[in-house]
Amino acid sequence: MIEFNNVSKVYEHEGQHLTAVKDANLQVERGEIFGVIGFSGAGKSTLVRLANQLERPTSGEVLVDGFDMTNLSAKDLRSVRRQISMIFQHFNLLESKTVYHNVAFPLILAGESKSTIKERVEEILDFVGLKDRANYYADQLSGGQKQRVGIARALATSPNILLCDEATSALDPETTQSILELLKRIRDEYNMTILMITHEMDVIKDICDRVAVMEGGEIIEQGAIFDLFTNP
Ligand code: ADP
Ligand code: ADP
Repeated sequence: MIEFNNVSKVYEHEGQHLTAVKDANLQVERGEIFGVIGFSGAGKSTLVRLANQLERPTSGEVLVDGFDMTNLSAKDLRSVRRQISMIFQHFNLLESKTVYHNVAFPLILAGESKSTIKERVEEILDFVGLKDRANYYADQLSGGQKQRVGIARALATSPNILLCDEATSALDPETTQSILELLKRIRDEYNMTILMITHEMDVIKDICDRVAVMEGGEIIEQGAIFDLFTNP
């Protein structure tokens, strides 16, 4: 589903080379919730941007649904990227637009008809529990509600991969819990593949099937949650 084979990413900055990701190997299966944990600067965001093809690897290959993302025509790349959505720590909503418009936005970009958009937006807002907030402006919502809008927007185009970049880090523990419940429901109902990066151990323990631990650009451990985090 998502496969990294010997992936490295080296940034060049004022003649200096910085290896953000070094020789990463991982496979995330369909319907799996896979966590990447590590301190700030460990290379987690770079890893996610490589999965999304926002960055190209310096070496190695990134496969999504069996397609080598580093070796696709622009047209095929667009079609594979349409399978991938992302949610963010600070939600990245259009604050001056309504909830409805935020969720409709990717569908408008995809050129869907007004009636298709209306049906899909209403369905997905119902799914995330925000049906009665459609006409609220994004800046009138709580953090948890904003993340639900972010999730609804991500799901609008029916992707099969959801990338989560510190998606609960700006939320209080109770709200975090409700967002994690929602992510589990998304996995269960849509067989979604979820790759989530976080520095929060509790999040990883709560929701992930498997986890990779990153340090200094390297994946230093990888395995089932139970094996890695259960005391002997
Ligand atoms: P994390 O998400 O775990 O905090 P990042 O992937 O953001 O880690 O960063 C890993 C390393 O790569 C850091 O040392 C960071 O400064 C560096 N880095 C990230 N993006 C860039 C960039 N665009 N240019 C140069 N260096 C970068
Ligand atoms: P804008 O900032 O462009 O007014 P809106 O989110 O208010 O953005 O509306 C975008 C489009 O979606 C408009 O054509 C509007 O008629 C329609 N729309 C907005 N809210 C709803 C809703 N709750 N149900 C159905 N259609 C809606």
